[in-house]
Amino acid sequence: MSGAPVRWSRPSRLDDPLELPAGKLADGMESLGLRTVGELLEHLPRDSREARTVAALRAGEQATVAVWVRAIGAKSVRRAGMRPLVEATVFDGTGSMRAMFFNQPWLVQRYQPGTRLVLHGKADDRGGFCVSHHASGSDAALNGSSGEDGSGSGGAEHSSVTDIPGDTVGFAETGVVVAHYPAVVGVTSTQILTLMRSARGALGDVPEALPAATRVSEGLPDRASALAAMHFPRNREDLEMGRVRLAFEELLLMQLAFLRRRAGRSSRQATPRMGAAHVLDERPSLSERWLQSGLPFVLTGDQRRVIETIRGDLEQPHAMQRLLMGEVGSGKTVVALYAMLRAVEHGCQAALMAPTETLAEQHFATLQQLIGVEPVAGALLTGSTPARRRKDILGKLASGELSLIVGTHALIEPDVKFRTLAVAVIDEQHRFGVRQRVALGEGNPARGGGISPHPPHMLHMTATPIPRTLALARYGDLEMSALRELPSGRQVIDTRAVAGEVARARAYELLREQLRAGRQGYVVCPLIDEAQAPTAGEDQSEARAHGPEGWVGQRAATAELKRLTEGELEGYELMLLHGGMRTREKQEAMAAFASGKADVLVATTVIEVGIDVPNATVMLVENAERFGISQLHQLRGRVGRGEHRATCLLMGSHPTSPGAARLRALVEHSDGFRLAEIDLGLRKEGELVGTRQSGLGQFEVACLPQDALLLERARARAETIVAVDPALQAPEHELLGDALERKFGAEAFEPIWA
Ligand code: ADP
Ligand code: MG
Repeated sequence: MSGAPVRWSRPSRLDDPLELPAGKLADGMESLGLRTVGELLEHLPRDSREARTVAALRAGEQATVAVWVRAIGAKSVRRAGMRPLVEATVFDGTGSMRAMFFNQPWLVQRYQPGTRLVLHGKADDRGGFCVSHHASGSDAALNGSSGEDGSGSGGAEHSSVTDIPGDTVGFAETGVVVAHYPAVVGVTSTQILTLMRSARGALGDVPEALPAATRVSEGLPDRASALAAMHFPRNREDLEMGRVRLAFEELLLMQLAFLRRRAGRSSRQATPRMGAAHVLDERPSLSERWLQSGLPFVLTGDQRRVIETIRGDLEQPHAMQRLLMGEVGSGKTVVALYAMLRAVEHGCQAALMAPTETLAEQHFATLQQLIGVEPVAGALLTGSTPARRRKDILGKLASGELSLIVGTHALIEPDVKFRTLAVAVIDEQHRFGVRQRVALGEGNPARGGGISPHPPHMLHMTATPIPRTLALARYGDLEMSALRELPSGRQVIDTRAVAGEVARARAYELLREQLRAGRQGYVVCPLIDEAQAPTAGEDQSEARAHGPEGWVGQRAATAELKRLTEGELEGYELMLLHGGMRTREKQEAMAAFASGKADVLVATTVIEVGIDVPNATVMLVENAERFGISQLHQLRGRVGRGEHRATCLLMGSHPTSPGAARLRALVEHSDGFRLAEIDLGLRKEGELVGTRQSGLGQFEVACLPQDALLLERARARAETIVAVDPALQAPEHELLGDALERKFGAEAFEPIWA
């Protein structure tokens, strides 16, 4: 299939180059990557502007109108360097007005009476309309009002006068929806629209990727109609219908790619390249002994279930690719260690990669502790492992003397070679790039160093709970497991939303009460200092996405420290901790807090990660409405880690703000998965959570969360298609295969094992 020529429906007008006069417009189109008619037609509007009627214009407001020219003329302007002002009387079915074009005297010739125009600009309160962008149906090279380049009209000769409704009154009444394209230097949205009109005839050549059966059962229009509906909508419904059709196709292609990858991995006649894995199916010995007697606690039901599932995965002839989601403290490490021990007891090797040295060190210590008396040869490899030690470790990894290794990115350096890496675990997988994750998976064959030709079974772990919709969109090619149940003895943190001065006073009273009882607390602020930009917390983009503009009125850690030291917390020992401090200063502050020397840590979101002080029982979060749900949930996980009952106080200043719904969710729920679902539900249009971190980027057309159902439909349809025709070779799937290849490249057809 790969390498097959792209099949257009017939010799196509889509391949024709766009004919543009040289200049800003041509350059701009080039920078948009639009060279052919086909590329132009695939350039979708970002949103639409409902054209106002002339009668409905309000002074001072940006608006788009669709009008006809009644009269036009130039007027000299009494200011040096200004060219004559062009004034046109324009009208629609509701009224007429004076449109003003600045600095473009040639428009007098171009916009003769009777021309249909789409104008974008601002109405004044004297019946005038200042035009900033304009286009007519028969004029390709139009300009913004800065208009230095007035040279000639575009090469695309055509007439779209045909789509002017004959009856002007009807036209005004329907309210025209105008496609709006993101502008770039040199090209305005209206210019693109004009070009689009001229290319309209080529829509008939647009290939249809969806099989007829799929289109019919999903109730979707064909591709050409969908594109036409988006570029030339008659109304909002047109736009949405076209968008849904294109979004479905986009989601379907993505799910097909995921499923094909998965199918490739589990294919029966798998070769090593295709994912034939170490079959770990001997009777458990070490791992069983360890589960029976080596654990200092009883496994939760979730942990037992996932361990069972993984045991099954490891027995398969193709490599496991499993995502394990579980909040901080849910006990993922034990599960990972089980998988690793299965490798070890088969005489193979296992690796665990963590994103930071601290985490790697902690993991190594934990694993050693968990393994206890079992004789497992393990080592830690990070960037600060001394050269001699490193050399020794690499030697033992290559010889197979070491069975288990824990480390950072240091594990994927090119000279690290395993003898038989059978299980690879990646903790906090979202903090690694795709390539890094794959690199660990390629530990054996790609580097040719080891003797094993097999890719390892891979377990990707994340502490971020991901709702199903997002998981499908991001990790549709992975099997998924979750640890929802927290180990017993973990307590629910009493969470309260606090607003108003009286409540604030009571909050400090509660904090002091705890301090008097010997406990400790956190005060979290969104800023480092008042003059400064947002703190460099990990999730700032998320926080920013929610709040009103700017950071005015936000509390800053440095100022709060001073204020509290002299005010509500006078007499207690306060420490500052924020991302702007030097590493040594941070370490000192954390050490002082951990040892109990400091009573209160006044901090930014840096405390989100890595701080574990069981004696801390109160957290006070300032401007809590500025933070995202998941971030607040993570933050509050810093308290309640010991035997004492813990409280989290979310200080919000606007009980009616959109942030209030998020705070309520935190007050009501402690399950991270439930919170993630609520969070997704509260997101505004197109505000897809987490794509920033995942590096996956937004979709081109689809829009989550509101296209969640469409995604489910696409997934189901993809499953049906792959079940009957995994190679997409049936005649009705050929064009779908072409589309997949165009979108993801020939690799889409190769079974990818990592
Ligand atoms: P995660 O990596 O998911 O954040 P860990 O694996 O580090 O969580 O486990 C958190 C803590 O809980 C560790 O101290 C671990 O020993 C402990 N733990 C794990 N599973 C259980 C369990 N079933 N019962 C009691 N404690 C557990
Ligand atoms: Mg962990």
